[in-house]
Amino acid sequence: MAYPTQTAAMEDLDTFDVQRIREDFPILHQKVYGKPLVYLDNGATTQKPSVVIDTIADFYRQRNSNIHRGVHYLSDQATTAFEDARKTVRRFINAPHERQIIFTRGTTESINLVAFSFGERFVNAGDEILVSEMEHHSNIVPWQMLCERRGAKLRVIPFDDKGELVWEKFEELLNPRVKMVAITFVSNSLGTVNPIARIVEKAHAVGAAVLVDAAQAVQHKVVDVQALDCDFLAFSGHKVYASTGIGVLYGKEKWLERMPPYQGGGDMIKSVSFEKTVFNELPFKFEAGTVDYVAAISLGTAIDYLEGIGLERVEAYEDQLLRYATERITSLGDLRLFGQAREKAGSVSFLFDGIHHYDTGLMVDKMGVALRTGTHCTEPVMQHFGVTGTVRASFALYNTFEEIDILVEALARVKRMF
Ligand code: PMP
Repeated sequence: MAYPTQTAAMEDLDTFDVQRIREDFPILHQKVYGKPLVYLDNGATTQKPSVVIDTIADFYRQRNSNIHRGVHYLSDQATTAFEDARKTVRRFINAPHERQIIFTRGTTESINLVAFSFGERFVNAGDEILVSEMEHHSNIVPWQMLCERRGAKLRVIPFDDKGELVWEKFEELLNPRVKMVAITFVSNSLGTVNPIARIVEKAHAVGAAVLVDAAQAVQHKVVDVQALDCDFLAFSGHKVYASTGIGVLYGKEKWLERMPPYQGGGDMIKSVSFEKTVFNELPFKFEAGTVDYVAAISLGTAIDYLEGIGLERVEAYEDQLLRYATERITSLGDLRLFGQAREKAGSVSFLFDGIHHYDTGLMVDKMGVALRTGTHCTEPVMQHFGVTGTVRASFALYNTFEEIDILVEALARVKRMF
């Protein structure tokens, strides 16, 4: 399909030219309350480059038709674009085959799908599911629901005060009753990068499968499902510069083939009669109803965009941003930093002594700076530290060192006012 693919950022691959990258993101060039917008809430969702916005608009203007169901020209075009997006996702995470790429509504739905379908087939009374203390609610609650349904037990790998998993506890918890280890690659409230390949190796040694929540990973680092050897991996399009409404579940075929469908309806069936329904093959078996195919196509475009810049370069650049932000925020003093793991990505979380996270967020907002405050859907992390919430600055490839200076100046003003 003839979508615009050449962008300002992609023309110049020799240097990481953040100002040119910013030109690709129209939303960044606005003022809020008369101040230039400094958007540091990328952990919640990322902004979209013009190439993604144009893909969506062009698709609705010129090519829209439902996928997989028509013999006519537009339907064929839409189906090809959608299946091309699946190929792009396969390449992006280095999955062996497109059959293993299932489109969902997002990370949450991907995890729910596995918790339901894997749980139905492979989890029984007395079995155990391991999650970590730093999981997003989306990687806790579906497993709790599964345990409730099947009479299984949820067990928790703790983290230490730096925000790193306690490895000995993880090893202690592993035993042949563990059927699944569901773990985040990058914590959205601590920034911790977990050693996934090592976790997978240990889990496999006792026969447990591993689901990786990569919602905060794929936009910051190269993720290779074959190198990780994980059994499942989930992420959301909207956190990796694509539209909302689309997510990905990768799974090993040995599991996906044997798991029952998650939902029933169009596209997941081969034939239906009142006596017997025959389910479709992978990946369609898990794609009931009309997938948000336009969002899926936008995800393909977003991945092409990101790969055009180069994820290794993005990772290196964002790492510098994160270090700079951490140093400068820490130098303000009178604060607690949450998450001091050796390997971090994406965000810095903190709390000024005696200043509510909500007040900090509200005040810097008036200075044009968008931060997230609260629990970040990780209440157990807040309970660990005995706080009701934190302030989080989270980064994307279009953020700049100057923006961090503006953030730090805004935070200094908050401190002075209290
Ligand atoms: N897991 C993690 C680590 C997240 O950061 C998020 C989003 N904040 C989710 C899961 C849920 O993603 P979504 O709402 O897109 O399903």
